[in-house]
Order: sequence, then C-alpha cells, then structure tokens
Amino acid sequence: MEILHFYRNNVGVHDPLFVRALVIADATGKSVALVTGDFLGAGCDEIRTRVREKTGVDEVWFSASHTHSGRWLVSTPTPGRLYTDELEWDELTEKGPIAERPEELQWNNGVHQAIDEIVAEAQRHMVPVDLRAGRAAAQVGFNRRLAAADGSIYMGVNRDGPVVPWVNVLSAHARDTGKPIAIYFEHAAHPVTVPHGSNLVSADFPGAAVRRIRKHLGDDVIALFGQGCNGDINSFPLRSTHADADAVGHKLGEAVLQAMEQSNVLKSTKLKLKTVVTELPTRPLPPLELVESLLRDNRGDARRLKQLGKIKTILLRGGTPPSRRFEVHGVMIGEEWCLVGLNYELFAQIELWVAKVAPFRWTMVNSLTNGGRAYLGDDEALALGPKGGYEAGSLPSWSGHETMSPSLGSPAVGCEAIVKKAIVELWS
Ligand SMILES: [Zn+2]
Repeated sequence: MEILHFYRNNVGVHDPLFVRALVIADATGKSVALVTGDFLGAGCDEIRTRVREKTGVDEVWFSASHTHSGRWLVSTPTPGRLYTDELEWDELTEKGPIAERPEELQWNNGVHQAIDEIVAEAQRHMVPVDLRAGRAAAQVGFNRRLAAADGSIYMGVNRDGPVVPWVNVLSAHARDTGKPIAIYFEHAAHPVTVPHGSNLVSADFPGAAVRRIRKHLGDDVIALFGQGCNGDINSFPLRSTHADADAVGHKLGEAVLQAMEQSNVLKSTKLKLKTVVTELPTRPLPPLELVESLLRDNRGDARRLKQLGKIKTILLRGGTPPSRRFEVHGVMIGEEWCLVGLNYELFAQIELWVAKVAPFRWTMVNSLTNGGRAYLGDDEALALGPKGGYEAGSLPSWSGHETMSPSLGSPAVGCEAIVKKAIVELWS
C-alpha cells in the first residue's frame, strides 16, 4: 500500500496507527465523542453523520494527528463516482483514486468500521468522572517559515518564529478510585521526525508520547493526541530517524504527565457544543495573460496544466475560484474549559490568540478537525502573494501548496478576520 507524505510504498510497521475515542456526557445526557486518528488527514462528514446515527451521541469530532508516515482517511466512494470532495484531492496521488485500488479501499473501509466500534465501546464503558485541565511547558519543534533576502518564504528551522510553547491536557479520573482513565492532549507540530524515506508506518512523535504516558499510568489508560495549530511548525529534528521520533514523543509524554500533576478539577458540569460554518474566499485568480504564459512554460507537466486549464475556464467566463467551507467547533465546559476545533491547518499564531482572548480559564485548540484538506495562513502570510511560501504562496510561484488544491489558490487576504470572528461566535 501507499503511505504518505511523501508518497512511498509501505512494507511494514514501526509502530501501529490507532483510532481512539473519548465520549463525554453531562448530567443532562448531552454527549460528544472525541475521536482521534493517526492519519495525515481525513474527510469527516460521513464519519460524523454515521457515528451520530449509530450511537446517538449529539456530536462527533474527528481529529487527525497529521502523521506523515500513515495515510489519508477518505470517505467511502459512492457507486459510479470516483471522487468525493476529499477524493478530488486524491486525484493528485501517485496511484489514482482509491475506488480503483481494492487493497487500499479495504483498509479504508476497515478504519471506518473501527471508528464506529470504538465509539460504541467507549459508550459502553462510561463511568462517572472528574475532569481535570492542565498545561505544562513543551516544545517539540520550531517554526518552519524563514524569509530570504527578497522576502520570499522558504521552509527551514526558524528558532525565533512563533510556536505554541505548551501542551494542553484534559484528563478524566474515575470518581470512585481517582484513577485517570482517559487523557486528551494537544500540542502543535507537524509529526515529521520519522524520515520520509522510511517504508514503515508510524504515528511519529504523537504515538511515542502516548506510549510514554501509558508506560507511567498503565495500559488501561486511553491517551488521545489532538494536533494543535501546526501549520507553520515542524517537529525537530526533521526527517531524521524512528529513534529520534521516539525520543521527541517521550519528551512530550513527560510534559503531559507534568501537566496532569499541576492540573485543576473542573467544577462546572455543563457541556455545551457549538459549530459555526462560514465561507472563506479564495484570492483573485492570476490575470489571463499570466495564465497563458504559464500554460506555455509548463507543457509536459500534466498536473499543472490541469490546474491552469481550470483557472483559464473560470477566467474566460468571468467567474471566481471556489471558496472554502470553514468550520469551527467548540466543546465548552461551563466557563472553565473550551476546546476549539478547526477544519484546516492553521498557524500557531491563531492558537496563541485563542489562549489570550478566550473567556475560559483553560483552552485547547485542534486544527485538522472535522476536515483538514489544506493550509490556512494568516493575513500576513497571505499578503505575500507569490512570495508566501509553501503554506500561503500563489502563482506564478508553484511553491504554494494551495495552487494545486480544488480551490486553485490560497485563501484571500482578509480570511484571518473571518476565522477569528467565527471562533468568537462560539463563545457568544
Ligand atoms: Zn501539514
């Protein structure tokens, strides 16, 4: 089978990939299933709807760890259709749509089934708990955006750039024994310490962090990792060795244990769930003249020609590029604790902003939650246009990730305000 990113054939397992579930309900019966998985990303609408229907929980959140030594979990292909919303992105993989790869489709279906089963299993094992929230200093990587002399952004180790210098932890402790039974933790960094040449699947540092936590607290403890606002952060060392990934995760696991030690019991018992959906406009398309010259310059590159062809078609009919559906999800416990979930890969700056302005004692932020196809840079990055680098760049530079996306370009400048407004709306 194919693993990514980068694409390579898988020949075995360094450490297994997991899906994990934590179901929380309040005294009124309102409930949420927090599901995490060791995936690069995932299409989630189908999962969320199906699990809600099968289990009766009010909300389902699906959060991908973004390990770069696993796979993309896609929606189940529907008969007669190769591409769903996420499979359209799959179009760009080396081997074509998953609907035409029986072995990989079987794996994908198996994961879907496992998710249904673990949520139901978590529900069956529910016990009265105290919830505790904590935070401890932690840093497993560095900001990865560096500016060249001409202002162009390139990827490297930016020791002075923004990071989220902590790990956030929510732990559930059985009321009768005080023993922790589940730990949900969040830190922001791309899991990219496993070398991209390794042909073994791995959960990278988040998997190693879970192993460290369970070694201390016991194998009956479920530890779930939710990725933070990692869009501009890489773990360190980058693409090094499996052993280094284990060491990085070990360090994070220690920080989680420390955060638990200095955590506080949440006194509130009221669970609130809210979702805000909005649209993010895509930046204006490049002028036709530029597109024509790019079409000439990129003869022989089928993928680029395909994107340019789509852009040209829209320009000729005077249209605008497809916008993005942006969703923010809030799980709030009284006025003490809030988990914000975002369906894109956002920059650390957003998480730092949430921590500063949120009207809660404790905050956690997960990107790559209930979706997560791509990057969403802040306005400062988006305003750099072609110089914006991998996460935010635009044509005529091909380095921008979003040029190859179904939206045909990066989000427009101004999206940062839309994102912040949507997050604030969770709290109103
Ligand atoms: Zn990423």
